[in-house]
Amino acid sequence: ENHGVVGLEPNGAGLAGRVGELKEALRGREVKISAICAGFGGFILSEDQAVRDEFDRTMREIIAAAGELGSTGVIMVPAFNSQVPVMPHTQSTRDYLIERLRLLGDYARQCGTTVILEPLNRKEAFYLRQVADAASICRDAKNEGVKCMGDFWHMTSEDPSDSGAFLSAGPYLQHVHIASRATRNMPGEDGAVDNYVDGFRTLKQMGYANYVSFECGSKGDRMQTVPAALELVRSQWKEA
Ligand code: MG
Repeated sequence: ENHGVVGLEPNGAGLAGRVGELKEALRGREVKISAICAGFGGFILSEDQAVRDEFDRTMREIIAAAGELGSTGVIMVPAFNSQVPVMPHTQSTRDYLIERLRLLGDYARQCGTTVILEPLNRKEAFYLRQVADAASICRDAKNEGVKCMGDFWHMTSEDPSDSGAFLSAGPYLQHVHIASRATRNMPGEDGAVDNYVDGFRTLKQMGYANYVSFECGSKGDRMQTVPAALELVRSQWKEA
């Protein structure tokens, strides 16, 4: 708050039990809950019904808590590379995903929030890698509760153009993650490659009004690197 930060993105694990604590901690503060970062059990594209059920149950608990906290949405990944057995990457799996997302989207709207698909880089999740692909799933879901996001860290590997990625997400873009572009630390810690101007320009043109969250570590002393990163991000936003 002292550095002008206005959002906090907690992990979703155990969130239902932390609603009171978080509300109390943020009462009267400038800082609001932004998105909720995953935290569910199981995964939506498991071939095992029990694993899919675990995902659905825990995801719905997090969605309800996210709604109580006024969050912009709960971030989810359809399947990490390590999660097996997974449904094959086929049309029928995509159809299944969309059908299930519609149900989650309906529930999220009832709770006053959304579900947010996050594309990751291929080392973490081959299933969903590009922002435009996530956006096309949102478009086909035709559900106000189903959104997507872009993470500059993953976009560095997977999206040939930052501006193209955000532009393609259009009205479905609900959240953004940022980190340094070579080592996933504080923006600026990797030097000249930490350039976000192209993406920021498009976000400004789109009238993007949601959060840009830091999702990263730090190589240096955080008392220095955090304010430096905020300054870099703000100056590049202004330049864009
Ligand atoms: Mg991320």
